[in-house]
Amino acid sequence: MGRIQLDHLTKRFGDTVAVEDVTLDVDDSEFLVLVGPSGCGKSTTLRMIAGLESPTTGNLYIDGDHMNYRVPQNRDIAMVFQDYALYPHMTVRENVRFGLEEEEGYTDDEMDERVEAVATDLGIEDLLDRRPGELSGGQQQRVALGRAIVRDPEVFLMDEPLANLDAKLRSQMRAELQNLQDDLDVTTVYVTHNQTEAMTMGDRIAVLNDGRLQQVGEPLELYHEPANRFVAGFIGEPMMNFIRGHRSDEGFVGDFLAYSFDERLEAASGKGDDLVLGIRPEAIDVRRAADTASTALGDHEFRMTVTVTETHGNQNVVHLAQSDGAPDHDVLQAVTDGMHVVESGESVVITIDPDRVHVFDGTSGDALC
Ligand code: ATP
Repeated sequence: MGRIQLDHLTKRFGDTVAVEDVTLDVDDSEFLVLVGPSGCGKSTTLRMIAGLESPTTGNLYIDGDHMNYRVPQNRDIAMVFQDYALYPHMTVRENVRFGLEEEEGYTDDEMDERVEAVATDLGIEDLLDRRPGELSGGQQQRVALGRAIVRDPEVFLMDEPLANLDAKLRSQMRAELQNLQDDLDVTTVYVTHNQTEAMTMGDRIAVLNDGRLQQVGEPLELYHEPANRFVAGFIGEPMMNFIRGHRSDEGFVGDFLAYSFDERLEAASGKGDDLVLGIRPEAIDVRRAADTASTALGDHEFRMTVTVTETHGNQNVVHLAQSDGAPDHDVLQAVTDGMHVVESGESVVITIDPDRVHVFDGTSGDALC
């Protein structure tokens, strides 16, 4: 058990609306990631679920029970914070055991056994007599997790728990956390501003911006079918390219390219003429102009000039400028595989895959097709 329901939750701090009318269901045993830029209301949402903030309006339920007025200690949740919140004067054993102290029904021996078992699960059994100051960041994070797990709660709430770790350890801990969540089968709400973390960890992702829920869905659903321009730009690295323009009889006429895309654009007709085209960098094929047999361009082909190529080993990010525009003004980014290097200043022909073009309303930002 551990189903969480947010029903039109709003939280105001004076004039600031931190969370606005958020309705969201988290299923039993689900790993839901709340993601969005700094200040979008992630932590406030999590803190309302924890009982550390009370909603201004709306209702919160866990397993169908109304939680608005229930104190945190009676919600059967455990929270893990970015700063670990360990007690420096206590040993690891005492810190983990502290998670159990407020629970009823454990004898001293049972508490000790439980602490040892959790420490073994997390690989920190040899550290039990050390203090937090004698541990690495990753080890401290495991202790903080241990203190949450030891209580066997219905719900885990995690607020940027890996933010203080270096990139390698963060990636390792991501995998460990997922395995742990699979084993424990506990409903988890995980807050991060990092879209990679969201994409790799979540069963589903909820994207927030300015306190409002933008979209909830499985990672690939958000990636391939973003509901609006904000989600499209937030999910995916390198970021989706956006080209402003308007609808014409032939298709789309943009800042620097015209594009015919027939029935898909027609499907979105009648919804305003200002449009934004969204193109993922990997939906753009890049070829050297010198390697292109014909000088005539086909449909969806454009001449461009490479401004910079970033080499990442497994892939390259190619920055492109209009071939007849300002030479250092990037207008698009494309991704090519690591073996396919084009040099700065080179003339290229790009092909945009018409089936992978997103179209957004230029005013509302809503996805049209
Ligand atoms: P970050 O990723 O930077 O932690 P966040 O998405 O978690 O950001 P919140 O901490 O939930 O965002 O804050 C949302 C908004 O509410 C921000 O504008 C913030 O300044 C404001 N806010 C949060 N807590 C308080 C408070 N106690 N008093 C006043 N304003 C607050």
